[in-house]
Amino acid sequence: MIYLDHAATTPMLDSARQAMLEWMQPEKIGNPGSVHQNGKQAREAVELARKRVAHLIGAKPEEIIFTSGATESNALYRRLWMTVATSAAEHSSNHRPSEKTIPVNHAGLVEEKTLDEFLTNDSEIEVVSAIFVNNETGAINNIRRLANVAYRHGVLFHTDAAQALGHTEVDVDASKIDLMTIASHKLGGPMGVGALYVRKGLKDEISPMFYGGHQEFGLRPGTENVPAIAGFGAAANDAMKSLGRRREHFSKLYEAFTKTLQANMDRPFFLNGERGRNANFVENIMSIHIPGIQGESLILMLDTRDICVSAGSACNADSKTVSKTLLAMGLDETEAAQTIRVSTGFSTTEDEVIEAAKAIADACKIIAKF
Ligand code: PLP
Repeated sequence: MIYLDHAATTPMLDSARQAMLEWMQPEKIGNPGSVHQNGKQAREAVELARKRVAHLIGAKPEEIIFTSGATESNALYRRLWMTVATSAAEHSSNHRPSEKTIPVNHAGLVEEKTLDEFLTNDSEIEVVSAIFVNNETGAINNIRRLANVAYRHGVLFHTDAAQALGHTEVDVDASKIDLMTIASHKLGGPMGVGALYVRKGLKDEISPMFYGGHQEFGLRPGTENVPAIAGFGAAANDAMKSLGRRREHFSKLYEAFTKTLQANMDRPFFLNGERGRNANFVENIMSIHIPGIQGESLILMLDTRDICVSAGSACNADSKTVSKTLLAMGLDETEAAQTIRVSTGFSTTEDEVIEAAKAIADACKIIAKF
C-alpha cells in the first residue's frame, strides 16, 4: 500500500504511540482532577503536553486549550461572539455560509492589499481568519503580514494551522496571532485531540463549549483524554526537533514525484495555484489538475492498485460538490472535478512517490480510452 493522503491524516509517530501506551497502563489510572498521587501524575502528563504544544508555536502553556481536534477549535474561537470574516479558501469547519468572505488570489492566498481594503470598507468585522497552510493545495498564507494588517485595524486574527505545524515555522508572538487552531493527527499524533491557542487576556471573553467541570480553564469541561493529550504532546515535541529534516525530506519527494509524472504523462497536467517551485507552498501537499480525467475515476483506479490519494479535503470526500477552494482560486467546476490531491508524509519514501507517479500516468492513459 502506498499511502499518499497524509493531509487527511498522518501515521502515528513512535514517540506518540509510546506516550499513549504509557498512559493506558493500569498503574497509570488517575483523573487529572483528583488530588491523590495518581491524579497528580495524570495532571503532570497533561501539563507536560501543554508545555510541548506551547513550545512548538512560541506560546505560553496557559494559552493552550486542549479540544477534540481542529473542528472543535474552529468552533470554540467563535464563542467570542464577535463578527468573523474568513478567507474564501478555508477548511469546511472554519467556513459559515452566513459569514463575510475575503477573496483569495489564483494561488488561494489572501493578499495584504485585499485584506486591508476589506477591513477599511467593513468596520463591523472584529475577527479575521485566514488558513495558514491550505489543506487542499499546500499554499501558505503570509500570516505575519496578514495578522499585522488586522492588528493595524484593531481586529483580532485567527489562523487554522492544522496543516502548518511540523511543515513551516509558526511563532504566534512574532506573527501577532491572537487565536490559532491546532490538530494532533496532522503532525503524527493521535486523532480526536487538538488545541486552540488563545492569546493571554482573551480567554475570559470566550464562553465555554459545554457546561461541567473546570477543565481546560473552564472553556472545555469534561475529563481530559490523558493518553491522547500525552501522544499529541510527544508528536509536537518531535515536530519541534525535526522541522529542518522534514523539510529536506519533503523537498526530495516533491522533486522525485513531479519529475516522474512529467516524464511519464502523455497529456498535460497542472499544479493548481501555478506553483512550480513557488516558495508559497509546502512541498508535502500537491493539488493536480489533469484535463480530461475525472478525479474520482483516477482515485478509484489508483485504489485498485493499492495507492491512496484523494480528491481534496477528506471531510468533503462523500459530498458530490466540487471544492469551493478551487472555485475561489478561479478554476471552473469541470477543472475542479479533474483535480486530485497527493500528500506525502515523513514515512513516505522516494521509491513510493516514483511508483505512484508512474501509476497515475498509466491510469490516465487507461481512463482516457473510455
Ligand atoms: N482544518 C484543516 C485545515 C484541516 O485540514 C482539517 C482536517 O482535514 C480540519 C480543520 C479538521 O480537522 P479534524 O477533522 O481533525 O477536526
